[in-house]
Formats: sequence, C-alpha cells, structure tokens
Amino acid sequence: MSLDNASRPVWKGADELVPSRYALRVGEIDVLVVSDGVLSLPGAMLAHNADPAVRGAWLDDMFLPRDVLEWALNVVVVRSGGRTILIDAGMGVEFPDLPRAGRLVQRLEAAGIDLPSLTDVVLTHMHMDHVGGLLVDGVKDRLRPDLRVHVAAAEAKFWESPDFSRVSMPPGFPDALRQTAKRFLSEYHRQLRPFEAEYEVAPGVLVTRTGGHTPGHSVVRLASGSDRLTFAGDAVFQVGFEHPDWYNGFEHDPEEAARVRVRLLRELAANRESLVATHLSFPSVCHVAVAGDVFRWVPGPWEY
Ligand SMILES: [Zn+2]
Repeated sequence: MSLDNASRPVWKGADELVPSRYALRVGEIDVLVVSDGVLSLPGAMLAHNADPAVRGAWLDDMFLPRDVLEWALNVVVVRSGGRTILIDAGMGVEFPDLPRAGRLVQRLEAAGIDLPSLTDVVLTHMHMDHVGGLLVDGVKDRLRPDLRVHVAAAEAKFWESPDFSRVSMPPGFPDALRQTAKRFLSEYHRQLRPFEAEYEVAPGVLVTRTGGHTPGHSVVRLASGSDRLTFAGDAVFQVGFEHPDWYNGFEHDPEEAARVRVRLLRELAANRESLVATHLSFPSVCHVAVAGDVFRWVPGPWEY
C-alpha cells in the first residue's frame, strides 16, 4: 500500500490527496500540526539494543514491514500572544536519499502561513530532519530579520564538536548531520537565542531542555486554562510506549534518552495531557496511558 501524494488522474483537481495539516486549540493557543513528509529508514533504527527477532516480531504485530519503515515527520506551528512560532523545520533537502520529506514550506503556504509571519522558531534539537527546512535556498531571505531562533545552549555547544560514539545510524548520516548542524549554526548565529533550562517563548508556550536524544534536546509544553499539550520532539517514538527501554539509533545518549522518555510518558499519563511528537504517525495527537510497567498509546479522535 502506498499513500503517496503524487497526482493521480482519477482525483484530478485535488492539490494533495492525503491531508498534511491538522488544526486544534489548547485553551487560547492555536496549534497546527504540519507534515513535512516521511523518512524511509531501516527498521533496525527503532531499537539497536533489541534482539532482532524480538524487534521483527514487534513490527509484525504492528503490521509494519521489517526492513524499511516510513517515519512520520511532524512540525508544529503555534500562535499565542500575538506571536507565530514554528517548532522545528523538517528535513529540507539535506539528504538526497530521503526525497519524500522536505515539504514544509509548500505546506505552510497551503495552510495560509507565510514565512514572514513567523516571529519565532523553536528547535527541539539540531538533527537535520528538524532544522533542514530553514536551510532550503531562499527561505532565510524570506524570514523577517528580527526572527528569534530558540535552542538550548547545550545543543548549540554540542554541535561544535558532536559525539557519535553511541549512535547506530545508516552510513552517511553522521557526516550529513554534522554538516547540516554546522551550516545551520553559521547561517543563523545572529538569530539564535540560546536558553539554559527553559524559556517562555510566548504566553503558555514553554520550551524545556530534557537532554537524552541529544544533550540539548528540548520539548515544548503548551498550557492555557486547564488545557495541556506537549510536543515531545524525538523523546518519544512509536515503539517507545510499549518498549520505552529500546534505544533509537539516533540517540546520542541512549540510557539518558530512555530515562527522559519514561519520565515524560509517566508525567503525561498522570496529568492526562495531549502528546504530539515528531515521528509519531500524523497528526500524532494522542494520549498516554500506563500499562503495567510500560505505556499504551491512545490516538485522539479526529475533530473537524
Ligand atoms: Zn528526528
């Protein structure tokens, strides 16, 4: 089965056949989840510390192929207190073998969001699938000169001399990640607003450093009235509910990443808030429940 958006004559007239944006509200805060596309990655990336047979059985149980998985790549736009905040920026064109991602700018525009209307960018971390969209030709020129780019100080520092000794990535990825982060730091150094532990970007929009996935990995907590939603970036993957202790191949400190995941999932389950994450199936709005020692993923109903 393939849900590609390539135009098919039978559906003539539709711009895209599969929805790529989903709007919701968190109290007074407007939230739009936008899909940047999908990343095709080896199944082993899900859990490099799991027995391959056990990992394979999990994929079978989920009706997913064992070899190559399509990872969702979600980006979020938030409006609060007169600010329009882009949280992460998708893949851009940073890696030639991932051509089905990098649709962010076209999809923002289709949703009525012009690049000059963005007042802030928040980066959960500086892997290329989170910053690449800002490096696409012509994008920076269209962003406002007083744009603020918020990233943990520890993240910017890490990419000056990144450690890849604990990751398990396909060939070519470490070099591409290094180069992209380096280029990002040099192109956007004037816009960078590094924060230490946390920063309130706009009313009810709090970015908080977690570490783990990368040393400066951060999540964004939205709170308005009694409504709560957390954008977890790469702290939670689909497999992480049932197997929070499985190490994702892109985690630079896998043990700490697992601790961060468990802590966050426990908290979200306890306070019943909504979760959105980069690589959970679009639009990824869901809840978390505790299931014995692990967790259960509870997808939210579509509301439209
Ligand atoms: Zn990612």
